[in-house]
Amino acid sequence: MEFSLTEEQKALQKKAREFAINEVLPVARKYDESEEFPMDVIKKAYDANLLNLAIPKKYGGLGLGLLDACIVVEEISSACPGIATSIFDNNLGAEPIVIGGNEEQKQRILGELVNDFKLIAFATSEPTMGSDVAGMKCLARKEGDDFILNGTKFWITNGGHADYITVFATIDPEKKHRGICAFIVPTDTEGVRLGKHIPKLGQRSSNTVSVGLKDVRIKKENVLAKPGRGFVVAMQTFAHTRPAIGAFAVGCARSAMEYSIDYAKKREVFGRPIERYQAIQFKIAEMYKDIEAARLLTHKAAWEADQGMDNNLSSAIAKAFASDVAMNVTTEAIQIFGGYGYLRTYPVEKLFRDAKLYQIYEGTSEIQRIVISRFIMKQYEHAMPKLGKVRKTD
Ligand SMILES: Cc1cc2nc3c(=O)[nH]c(=O)nc-3n(C[C@H](O)[C@H](O)[C@H](O)COP(=O)(O)OP(=O)(O)OC[C@H]3O[C@@H](n4cnc5c(N)ncnc54)[C@H](O)[C@@H]3O)c2cc1C
Repeated sequence: MEFSLTEEQKALQKKAREFAINEVLPVARKYDESEEFPMDVIKKAYDANLLNLAIPKKYGGLGLGLLDACIVVEEISSACPGIATSIFDNNLGAEPIVIGGNEEQKQRILGELVNDFKLIAFATSEPTMGSDVAGMKCLARKEGDDFILNGTKFWITNGGHADYITVFATIDPEKKHRGICAFIVPTDTEGVRLGKHIPKLGQRSSNTVSVGLKDVRIKKENVLAKPGRGFVVAMQTFAHTRPAIGAFAVGCARSAMEYSIDYAKKREVFGRPIERYQAIQFKIAEMYKDIEAARLLTHKAAWEADQGMDNNLSSAIAKAFASDVAMNVTTEAIQIFGGYGYLRTYPVEKLFRDAKLYQIYEGTSEIQRIVISRFIMKQYEHAMPKLGKVRKTD
């Protein structure tokens, strides 16, 4: 078992941290307030080779592992969770192609993402469906070799600025998961309508839109997954991206903790800095311990993916745990700042708003608990004899 980072990973972490401090942190508040899309920062991330982390070397990418990606993600998110979501949405959009695309699609689309600074978004969710992916209604009708898409996708991150969207649709809603296919949709295709940015509680610099699809013709070359296979690709994509959401949450929580330490050292109440009160020390100790645990779970889930193992369970655990940690830590950070925590003066207020999203997107915390409890009830192997075989006390 090895818990330390390699020299390459330490160098990657240093590079990502410098980028976060120099390019992301100075504009985090500006983009939060304007809710503009941080295209300039995303372009800088592309130029710094921090955008398309997971694209294999064969297609011109860096071919980094998921653990490497988590190291980068934690750093960028610690400067601004919203900008981090915008930057790493390309990984989410591209992952279905990495997992399910044929050789030609990988060469063409992944190659374009790497060589031409293109953005790609991901769309399973719809206005009436988010958690229940198998319940989607967006229709894919086969016409010869082509498919015709009709429906609406909702909450699509980066959708308003994307060149491509990986769209999931069904040949028949009654077929549930067996009907779901996936498509590569160039956003300039006739019939694609990108909605206006939808204002949000937090992560305001990430663009969120609806995507209307009206008689959108998808040529054979852009069919990514046939009926039934689409659902599998979507689930495998989540297993690969949920550890990164865990890393986002760790970065967000880490900054809230660091700001809390700084504030606790400075703020004097009843004649001494609040860092001297055990109630405050314990809050910070809780933060540190939970962040450490969240990072370990996140890295384990990513490591399993890198080993080619099925990480569905570990990624659900990591995402659920780290998201709750980010929410708890940012809430306690506001408490440590007292009234100032509630003002927009200090960054903890923003991190608190930003953190909430981790418990919602890419599978809510309840959905992660469903994955975990299903495993426990159906697959978990007991180490001890069954209850019936253990002597009861008299
Ligand atoms: C800012 C933002 C960005 C997003 N980006 C994208 C994107 O890029 N692409 C994309 O496809 N989607 C995206 N989403 C959608 C996101 O994945 C969904 O919002 C999420 O999966 C939850 O779906 P829902 O909102 O429909 O909630 P619902 O599914 O309606 O759930 C409502 C509540 O019920 C709970 N619930 C649901 N089912 C169960 C159950 N069986 N047992 C117990 N509780 C349950 C949920 O946990 C939740 O608390 C984004 C969402 C947001 C807010």
